[in-house]
Amino acid sequence: MLADLTVEKHQQVVEVADLKIGGEELAIMAGPCAVESKKQLLETAVEVKKRGAKILRGGAFKPRTSPHSFQGLGKRGLEILATAREETGLKIVTEVLDSEDLDLVNQYADILQVGSRNMQNFGLLKKLGQVDTPVLLKRGYAATIKEWLSAAEYIISYGNSQVILCERGIRTFETATRNTLDLNAIALIKEKTDLPIIIDPSHGTGQSSLVKPLARAGIGAGADGIIVETHPQPEQALCDGQQSLTPEEFGDLIADLKRVAAAVNKKIIA
Ligand code: PEP
Ligand code: MN
Repeated sequence: MLADLTVEKHQQVVEVADLKIGGEELAIMAGPCAVESKKQLLETAVEVKKRGAKILRGGAFKPRTSPHSFQGLGKRGLEILATAREETGLKIVTEVLDSEDLDLVNQYADILQVGSRNMQNFGLLKKLGQVDTPVLLKRGYAATIKEWLSAAEYIISYGNSQVILCERGIRTFETATRNTLDLNAIALIKEKTDLPIIIDPSHGTGQSSLVKPLARAGIGAGADGIIVETHPQPEQALCDGQQSLTPEEFGDLIADLKRVAAAVNKKIIA
């Protein structure tokens, strides 16, 4: 199995147009939890690009615990993401929540995100195996590493080898933070598999003040990049504001990560 822990190790690079994820250059993905408006997304895109992001994140279809919470702008959100790509040149990573939406989301995304709550949606995983677009496979919050790699194996064995893993924290007995970011997973996956892996310190901690230290730790442990929630006004965000960085905080994070990257023979080209 390609994604099996026993696979012979060779670093796989996932190419997103001219970007290479899993090589010497760290992948920097940033943007809001959800696309809220054209103004919010374009402003964020310009700000994060200026500070080193190459890929813009933003959910148009949001997996929310409560059906009464903001569900995302849907197709309109995808159109806004496409406008941001045209205006900035940033690549787009966005979540596909349902098999039914795959064709639509695939018309807009450069990377298709599978959310934590969907990691074992096998119908969706099989369909993702049948497209050519790279997939960002987030770890289920209660999934073991083996289950996570088996989910990756679904996508790969159905025909799409362009899988990037994302450690986004797991649920443990600890309630002081939203999740517990599993740094062991980063090191173990780099040791045993050939898949690129990035870290999400936003969902991993749930608290903006903890994003920088845990991003540093993730890169130090060998992650190939980060995905970080950033919002022009975090206190007004419709989703995950408490864990979102301001553009200035994001810039500060990138400056800091450049030094950590150098220490592990990686680089950030900002
Ligand atoms: C997100 O990236 O906004 C998200 C919903 O993440 P997760 O699936 O990891 O909870
Ligand atoms: Mn979020």
